[in-house]
Amino acid sequence: MKKHNFGAGPCILPEEVFQKAAEAIIDYNNSGLSILEVSHRSEAFVEIIEEARDLALELLNLKDKGYQVLFLHGGASFQFVMIPYNLLETKAGYLHTGRWAGKAMKEAKKIGNIIEVGASTNKNFNYIPLIETSLENLDYLHLTSNNTVVGTQMKTFPITKTPLVVDMSSDIYSRILDYSQFDLIYAGAQKNVGTAGTTLVIVKEELLGKVSRSIPLIMDYQVLINNKSMYNTPPVFSIYTSLLNLKWLKKQGGIPAMQRMNSEKAKLLYNEIDSNPLFESTVPLKEHRSMMNATFILKDSALASKFAKLSLDSGIHGITGHRSVGGYRASMYNALPLSSVKALVDIMKELERIG
Ligand code: PMP
Repeated sequence: MKKHNFGAGPCILPEEVFQKAAEAIIDYNNSGLSILEVSHRSEAFVEIIEEARDLALELLNLKDKGYQVLFLHGGASFQFVMIPYNLLETKAGYLHTGRWAGKAMKEAKKIGNIIEVGASTNKNFNYIPLIETSLENLDYLHLTSNNTVVGTQMKTFPITKTPLVVDMSSDIYSRILDYSQFDLIYAGAQKNVGTAGTTLVIVKEELLGKVSRSIPLIMDYQVLINNKSMYNTPPVFSIYTSLLNLKWLKKQGGIPAMQRMNSEKAKLLYNEIDSNPLFESTVPLKEHRSMMNATFILKDSALASKFAKLSLDSGIHGITGHRSVGGYRASMYNALPLSSVKALVDIMKELERIG
């Protein structure tokens, strides 16, 4: 039986994506070759990556606006290093909203001058902090749009001339935004883009070429752009699954359809968390709660084993909180159906009933 997969990433994918990916592993498009065997220089793969690049921009409404798309290695974490290498000359700002934002800042500090423009460290990152520092004279401002571990999400973004660099690993393609307000967007593919193994980077080309340091070629965005993400062998299979997933997304109605579904799912779950006396959200400010990752606790931990049994019996998978915070986390990425959230809400109600 297919499980209700609330895992934070790698996570649920649309069935159509893994069906097609499975077929392609056996024989890609009746070519007599597995997708795992095709050369990245082959016509077949060039078509795949070009279509994926195009769709990545089209879905965000960013076509013909000066953006370039890269499919890279190294996960979102490698971008924590590549971004300062490519963009940091004098000073950059980081908003410290959680574990990943902190890691991004820590790496950047090894490379140059970084200021923390705001932080929610005082309350275990359970809210989105205000920006308390001037954003003037910064090479860029780094933000994490969705904090996967603690379940907070930025709903508005600063209006500033400073370039905005945003880690959207856990909420890209999930909601309507004016994406042209951002200068660089990056996301590890393994949530709303595709499978682990590639990282999507969307960068305004005019941002590049402004630093004086010598950048290792494998980390130089301009070199990677000039080589169309094929400076070295790209992660072929992961780019292929990203294409399948982006195509699925478009077929569903694109981001507006995702937003509609995602807000319905989030509303259903948060309503239960707030109304069920056994549970409590770990993000008290409703307007800071993530539509992708809902984090919550059982007020009485003695009920944990009963809740675990109910989860197991209903095929609910992946709701254990991140190892650094504990509690529960239900990740509701694009591919998670409403019926899975209903199944989770049902067992929460059942726990309340049996106590
Ligand atoms: N940023 C965010 C917001 C994340 O959620 C994650 C991983 N869950 C990362 C960065 C790190 O991604 P990766 O494992 O691809 O390096």
